[in-house]
Amino acid sequence: MLEPTSLQEQLEAAREDRLRVLVVGAGIAGLTLAQLLRRDGRRPVLIERAGPDAPSGYMLALMPLVDPVLAELGLTDEYRVRSVPMDRYRIRNRRGALTREYAMGELLDAYGDYRGISRGELMAALATSGGTVAHHTTVKALRQDANEVTATFAAPEGAPEAAFDVVIAADGLHSSTRDLILAEDQVGAYDSDWGGWVVWTEADDDTDLGEELWGAGWFVGTYPVKDRLGVIVCVPRSEEPRGLAAVAAAIRREVPRAGSRMDRVLADIGDGREAYFWPLFDHRSTTWSTGRVGLVGDAAAGFLPTAGIGAGMAIESAAALARRLRDCTPDRVASVLHAHERSQRPRVEAAQQNSRQLARLMFNTGRAATVLRDTAARFVPLSAAIKPIRRLLEDRPT
Ligand SMILES: Cc1cc2nc3c(=O)[nH]c(=O)nc-3n(C[C@H](O)[C@H](O)[C@H](O)COP(=O)(O)OP(=O)(O)OC[C@H]3O[C@@H](n4cnc5c(N)ncnc54)[C@H](O)[C@@H]3O)c2cc1C
Repeated sequence: MLEPTSLQEQLEAAREDRLRVLVVGAGIAGLTLAQLLRRDGRRPVLIERAGPDAPSGYMLALMPLVDPVLAELGLTDEYRVRSVPMDRYRIRNRRGALTREYAMGELLDAYGDYRGISRGELMAALATSGGTVAHHTTVKALRQDANEVTATFAAPEGAPEAAFDVVIAADGLHSSTRDLILAEDQVGAYDSDWGGWVVWTEADDDTDLGEELWGAGWFVGTYPVKDRLGVIVCVPRSEEPRGLAAVAAAIRREVPRAGSRMDRVLADIGDGREAYFWPLFDHRSTTWSTGRVGLVGDAAAGFLPTAGIGAGMAIESAAALARRLRDCTPDRVASVLHAHERSQRPRVEAAQQNSRQLARLMFNTGRAATVLRDTAARFVPLSAAIKPIRRLLEDRPT
């Protein structure tokens, strides 16, 4: 478990570090980076805007990209205990009929594990070896000169300032730290104009099955994690005011029979249970660093959930950055951040592009387009659909 620790205490501990590092955001990328640096004997300052009791979030399917990083952190067993294998992936069409079932496990076996885990369980696994974090803390301003970067914090103890050799913004898709270093026209976005309610429901016997229902004007995805099933119901954002219960009821009327899992899930989620609506868009920064301040994870390139690869890329990028910072001296920070961007950015943007393409396929409103899509989905082998991801797996950074 992470140990909530004041910013001042963390600053004291980091004072003598060879490279003074500030990590903003204790999410998937930020925590991975901090834990890898700590394993090297460093004491990065880790701050997080949310409190320790923030909701544990949504379900994640994790590509084998994460395996070597979790192994490096000594967390392979912990990860496996907290997750389930996702060996099968099934698509149903707009009428509820089976389009195709794919053997995901077999397809990805050569590269490692493909597993389902809740964000909360992943965060708990990453926190296994402990470490400090200052909650309710963020950065309000950054000032750089040739020798250091000074951060002004907003923290429970006031608004202290502190100097660092490098600041890494790992504060996610809506990164406000990114806004401190990049102009508005340096951050692009792809907006699907759709959004999705995420809800939890009980597990079923198919604990290794991810199943999706691809409709015209709606999409339902169900993904197993340990002891639960995560569900996302996506619609154009203009439909959000109707509410999840009404949308689920309408889907049931349109598709009365869609297999035992979908029938049960669509009935369950109409009961007013807690649901969070995620707008589905992404961001892409034109540059990943300015001087001594770098971006990692969704802050650099945010992800739609459609290819199930954003968290995997965030972990991979955090580990690649940690490796570069390992031997970095304060005078080389800017060039090390550039080198990281040069090697990692093409991989991240290829995965992001794949997510955008899948969004165009999954989030479809026109009947003619969905008929075409359903027909194509029957004949396109999964190996072809996820070719860009397989390429990333074949060509992993060492
Ligand atoms: C519904 C949904 C489903 C998804 N499914 C998958 C999937 O199946 N597989 C997959 O690989 N990816 C998936 N993703 C994408 C994945 O979750 C993200 O790509 C990943 O979380 C990015 O990690 P990150 O560390 O960059 O950002 P985050 O995990 O979002 O972490 C950012 C952290 O920074 C904190 N923070 C924010 N602002 C500040 C601030 N100003 N100061 C300090 N702290 C701050 C936040 O509280 C948070 O803890 C999904 C995303 C969503 C929304």
